[in-house]
Amino acid sequence: MATDSWAQAVDEQEAAAESIGSLQIKEKPEENGKCADNSQKTSDPKKDKAAQSLLNKLIRNNLVNNTNQVEVLQKDPNSPLYSVKSFEELRLKPQLLQGVYGMGFNRPSKIQETALPMMLAEPPQNLIAQSQSGTGKTAAFVLAMLSHVDPNNKYPQCLCVSPTYELALQTGKVIEQMGKHYPEVRLVYAIRGNKLQRGMKLQEQIVIGTPGTMLDWCGKFKFIDPKKIKVFVLDEADVMIATQGHQDQSIRIQRMLPKNCQMLLFSATFEESVWNFAQRIVPDPNIIKLKREEETLDTIKQYYVLCNSREEKFQALCNIYGAITIAQAMIFCHTRKTAGWLAGELSREGHQVALLSGEMQVEQRAAVIDRFRDGKEKVLVTTNVCARGIDVEQVSVVINFDLPVDKDGNPDNETYLHRIGRTGRFGKRGLAINMVDSRMSMNILNRIQEHFSKKIEKLDTDDLDEIEKIAS
Ligand code: ADP
Repeated sequence: MATDSWAQAVDEQEAAAESIGSLQIKEKPEENGKCADNSQKTSDPKKDKAAQSLLNKLIRNNLVNNTNQVEVLQKDPNSPLYSVKSFEELRLKPQLLQGVYGMGFNRPSKIQETALPMMLAEPPQNLIAQSQSGTGKTAAFVLAMLSHVDPNNKYPQCLCVSPTYELALQTGKVIEQMGKHYPEVRLVYAIRGNKLQRGMKLQEQIVIGTPGTMLDWCGKFKFIDPKKIKVFVLDEADVMIATQGHQDQSIRIQRMLPKNCQMLLFSATFEESVWNFAQRIVPDPNIIKLKREEETLDTIKQYYVLCNSREEKFQALCNIYGAITIAQAMIFCHTRKTAGWLAGELSREGHQVALLSGEMQVEQRAAVIDRFRDGKEKVLVTTNVCARGIDVEQVSVVINFDLPVDKDGNPDNETYLHRIGRTGRFGKRGLAINMVDSRMSMNILNRIQEHFSKKIEKLDTDDLDEIEKIAS
């Protein structure tokens, strides 16, 4: 591929400004500006986060593998720290133990080992817990709520607030599944659209909903007597705080609750603002954190290919596919338009291609990812935003059809690591191939290389032997 003017120029470490100048600009302004992915244009941080969170819930059916230690900060540092290795040790009600096993859980997850004994302790303890999504937080607080309700009392005893209607429904499903053998406990959704008659009192023991409706039901409409609440759960605090109104509403709900009500707050991330909010919601907390598993480039072989246009990049890709067997690959593009085009070209070449793109509904995206994970398609073409947070273990090759840049055009090192780091998981070796199509993108590549102090080797995709070697 590295045969023509600009590529050679870079090859010789010489910037032949004229020949490069003309081609570097041709595609980029339109690419960067016009139909950039949804993160850059229609960006609403709360919506993005909520959508990401929902996507994780819709596609993930396995616990996230995390080998880090749980960090614990106890309210009372002198009290012994309990952690459990089995659900039996928690002395759960038999109906709940049955529910837990029925869901296929054999033993508590990392975060659950420490969080569950704290949440089930007598007297109840407050908790702030942070761990990435997929580590078992929801299952943990659902179990705590189900354990604390008295089914003989026909009034709300547990409140759980979620940032969106869809997320509330997902948590509700977990409650229903885990409480399957405990039918005396009932659940109601405090969400807009669920209109109740004035003056009525709820009989369900667990109420799950969004902060605005929950506040109205506790305050204005008095469907719930907040003084009888024993457990208050605030889920997805980091998504919640992206909306100022939600923060205020949550705090107002919390203020109506009795002093001895157990307060539990969960978050996938823990920046300063989340922490400040958490402290206002949860007095005297125990705090537990589980750091995200570090991503590393150590087990990844990285290459770059020099090209002059997207057509050449596509040709390079075809050459790679012609030379080596690729079980499954993810290909990242900067814009929806390129992603759509590339998916079309690859399909024409006979590949089974899945396309993830920004305008798709979360449910559609989840369906695409599930099909890919099931191996129904071998290539996933995607823009960055859509693919964030997807762990596809069987992916052996990641291709950056466009290098990741931030909105100012600087290298997005974090995204690079996240895209590539996923291939080398669990001791497997991964392969990453970067397409470089201008002096600008060569510069980005060099900066990425410097940032990680890891060499990215040049690959000549016209040389079949050379491609074959990289796969060995
Ligand atoms: P989070 O709330 O941190 O995103 P979840 O509670 O939704 O995590 O759990 C992630 C996935 O792992 C879900 O599919 C859930 O059913 C499953 N899961 C949770 N706890 C366990 C466990 N102890 N053993 C096996 N799977 C679990």
